[in-house]
Amino acid sequence: MGARNADRYSMPPDWHTHRTLGEMKAAGWRLGTWCKRCGHTAPVDLDHLIELRGSAGSPWDRYVVCGRQGCRGRAIFKAATGPGDVWFRLTRNWSGA
Ligand SMILES: [Zn+2]
Repeated sequence: MGARNADRYSMPPDWHTHRTLGEMKAAGWRLGTWCKRCGHTAPVDLDHLIELRGSAGSPWDRYVVCGRQGCRGRAIFKAATGPGDVWFRLTRNWSGA
């Protein structure tokens, strides 16, 4: 009911239309990271990420080192494309590798 209404506006991310950080920011996406080893999640400051990698940078299929102390696992990027907290992994070819 009420809580589900926002979800309909969350479309799965499309590599073809939203390839770069600049395009994702323009579309109002929120980014986060998710560690494949420990499940730790963290929000991503999109403005800061653009400062680091440029608006033409792409988070697709990239990973960062997990922020949880002692984990050192690989954290992939995820995106919420709508107002609801529906998150999608930014992986084009999910192999688990
Ligand atoms: Zn971790």
